[in-house]
Amino acid sequence: MSEVIDGKKFAEGLRQRIAQAVTDLSRQHRITPGLAVVLVGENPASQVYVRNKSRQTREAGMESFEFRLSADTSEHELVGLVERLNNDPKVHGILVQLPLPGHIAEEKVVNMISVEKDVDGFHVENVGKLSIGEDSLVPCTPAGCIMLLKDRLGDLSGKRAVVIGRSNIVGKPVSMLLLRHHCTVTIAHSRTRNLPEVCREADIVVAAAGVPEMVKDDWIKPGAVVIDVGINRVDSGEGKGRLVGDVDYEKVADVAGALTPVPGGVGPMTIACLLRNTLIATCRQVGVTVPDCIA
Ligand code: NDP
Repeated sequence: MSEVIDGKKFAEGLRQRIAQAVTDLSRQHRITPGLAVVLVGENPASQVYVRNKSRQTREAGMESFEFRLSADTSEHELVGLVERLNNDPKVHGILVQLPLPGHIAEEKVVNMISVEKDVDGFHVENVGKLSIGEDSLVPCTPAGCIMLLKDRLGDLSGKRAVVIGRSNIVGKPVSMLLLRHHCTVTIAHSRTRNLPEVCREADIVVAAAGVPEMVKDDWIKPGAVVIDVGINRVDSGEGKGRLVGDVDYEKVADVAGALTPVPGGVGPMTIACLLRNTLIATCRQVGVTVPDCIA
């Protein structure tokens, strides 16, 4: 039976370290990190995410600025708000919750956010910096995956990693981060041939395809570490939905060395890494060294 990688517990510890660093920053430099979250429309999942992000921001001792705009907000109005937040010294991080309504060009809005305040790490300049190995704000879910892997494995150098998925928010950035940590990385996607065979070569498998329980036990090399990013709601057969990952947990647990559960694995790391990015962004903006305790 494999070790369960407890993302919930790790994220709690990280949030506590962030809260301590926020207290120190405010005592020593009289600065309180501020995170602005912008929600356009009434997407129910986005509303839950925004509520959780704001609550955890406040719990970490940071200032939370929440902007809830109606679904018919124009692109011009949204860009105007982003520009105001870019220029507001109390705001160190800006997150525009995606997806945006269809009449707004997401890419345009994301690229309007000041690079230094782009705590989602989706600005094209931060994406570029990540790919050429420069310091940047790194997307939260991929950063969380790497923290869990480093905690479990220590040095990742020389490991063979397979990432299933090539999206801009998970697959590509997690692959870039694994490369930065000197893994030999294969990026798999829907056109990859013989995916089970490709995965069997890996010491690390990161599953981010959005396909419920796709990864089976015979895809995994005994002892490999498996990070399941997928969050899929499936019918539990009792008229209720239940959350599953991209990995067939029960089966893969017999083979893998360690494995993240869903829920309670990567998911809780995402908001913790958003707070971490907000603290990093604040420190860089005010010229204070980023504390080692959140590395
Ligand atoms: P996308 O739909 O944007 O990308 C999915 C990727 O998986 C694509 O590159 C696609 O390939 C690939 N893929 C799809 N089906 C297969 C298949 N059968 N075999 C191999 N590759 C396949 O999804 P996201 O990256 O946004 O999200 C992935 C999962 O992670 C989702 O379940 C999502 O809910 C979850 N997620 C979880 C987060 C968290 O906080 N834990 C945060 C973000 C996402 P191709 O490019 O060829 O189409």
